[in-house]
Amino acid sequence: MTDRAIKSIAIVGGGTAGWMAASLLAQTLRGTGCAITLIESPDIGIVGVGEATIPPILDFLKLIEVDLDAFLQATQATFKLGIKFQDWSRVGESYWHPFGSFGVSIDRRPFHHVWHKARTEGLDMAVPDFSLAAALGEAGRFAPPDPRAGGPLAGLRHALHFDAALVAKFLRDHAERRGVRRLEREVARAVLRDDGFIDALTLTDGEQVKADFYIDCSGLRGLLIEQALETGYEDWTRWLPCDRAIAAPTAHAGPPAPYTLAVAQDAGWRWKIPLRHRVGNGYVYASQAIDDETALSELLAAIGEPLAEPRKLRFTTGRRKAFWNRNCVALGLASGFLEPLESTSIHLVCSGLYKLLDHFPDRDFAPSNIAAYNRALVAEYETFRDFIVLHYCATARDDTPFWRDRAEASIPDSLAERMELYRACGRIDTRPGELFTDLSWFYVLEGMGLRPRAHDPLVDASDFRQVRAILPRLAQQVATVVAQSPTHQAALGAGRSVAA
Ligand SMILES: Cc1cc2nc3c(=O)[nH]c(=O)nc-3n(C[C@H](O)[C@H](O)[C@H](O)COP(=O)(O)OP(=O)(O)OC[C@H]3O[C@@H](n4cnc5c(N)ncnc54)[C@H](O)[C@@H]3O)c2cc1C
Repeated sequence: MTDRAIKSIAIVGGGTAGWMAASLLAQTLRGTGCAITLIESPDIGIVGVGEATIPPILDFLKLIEVDLDAFLQATQATFKLGIKFQDWSRVGESYWHPFGSFGVSIDRRPFHHVWHKARTEGLDMAVPDFSLAAALGEAGRFAPPDPRAGGPLAGLRHALHFDAALVAKFLRDHAERRGVRRLEREVARAVLRDDGFIDALTLTDGEQVKADFYIDCSGLRGLLIEQALETGYEDWTRWLPCDRAIAAPTAHAGPPAPYTLAVAQDAGWRWKIPLRHRVGNGYVYASQAIDDETALSELLAAIGEPLAEPRKLRFTTGRRKAFWNRNCVALGLASGFLEPLESTSIHLVCSGLYKLLDHFPDRDFAPSNIAAYNRALVAEYETFRDFIVLHYCATARDDTPFWRDRAEASIPDSLAERMELYRACGRIDTRPGELFTDLSWFYVLEGMGLRPRAHDPLVDASDFRQVRAILPRLAQQVATVVAQSPTHQAALGAGRSVAA
């Protein structure tokens, strides 16, 4: 450690983001003498609706050395094999964005290129025939990934659904056991130095908390990054106009499905997330297109009697102009908002933390280091934005003003370029390090009904009589694993983690 080392960190906010940050930093900085304090208000609640995740959450939990079985039990977690989208391209049609592998590469060509040629030859193929995750999901079953098994089990991946309030509580206990100091108090304001850096936090009782480095996990208000440092916000409402949500839990009407259901509605979409003890539901909608009362009626008509009073939430889609400003990094809702269609927000907390470790500062706070962090996260946010916009802009729906507007609205140039490449030749331009692989893009492009004008010419080098013979064998392998797998309910009842 140099004498310029960070010796104290103050985290404001005790939601999912705050406690994830506290857990990882406590783990990473143990033995350095760096003191970590988390301040959470007893009166300002957490948003409490982040319930669906993507597979890297399991890596995060492993990294912070959480006992996964205990976590699954304590957070009422279920397994998630992907997302099923209903009524997005056309009313009555649905498609899958499953996790894990899809078919096999044939003569080194990824399977989705083979798929395009097979489709032009009239072969009747569905994603769940070749994606074990989608097939298990459709059957309400679950199997653990098995890298040694060969076949589709080797490429299976999954994530979790969990109760966000219980996650914050679990991680709080975890982080406190690792030495994080928790103050249940409210921050009134940040005191700035002459150079604009944060000097201290003044609590509402007048006490001050001083640290070298501050992490803003205060939620949408962005207490430090925005209210104190006035970093600015880039508004993406023109591309993603949904700005409100109503969340309401219901009781299970059947066994819990091992996937998130995202159903397009008149002016947005509805999520259905099965947990062990209840089902999480919510309607994400555009206030320009529907009023709150009508949205609530539409939600209740779809989900039935809620177990608790429906909660209304407001947000502006976009991101902070900088995620790291002077001696403050914003994580979670304080850093920006993307609607939870692809469960990216909690992942962005993980990703922001990993990048923070890659760019961990000393007390000189080198501007070039801060700029590198911001560049990396801006790129990630923008790719996630484009991926979410794709779910809307490719719609063929014209049954409500909201959907007609989505089909006609302008889209980011970066997305237009990806879509044009796909339309031309079925290729997908992903960049190194991007979370969503070409396969993820394929599922949504295909599911939304986009068809390439031509397939990859190298697929023509394969003997297609052989390919036609391989396809039913692949589908049979998937069907066999599904038939041998337990129901999702039984897998949960086993009480043990089946995560690899
Ligand atoms: C409708 C909706 C659905 C979502 N669904 C998903 C999903 O399925 N998957 C996903 O990955 N993400 C989802 N998200 C996002 C996800 O909920 C958040 O990214 C995640 O919960 C992190 O929230 P947070 O910790 O940043 O903020 P919050 O949960 O809002 O926590 C803020 C914390 O700051 C504290 N605080 C605020 N002001 C002060 C103050 N002055 N002094 C002291 N403490 C203060 C509060 O007490 C609280 O502890 C969803 C978000 C919304 C709005």
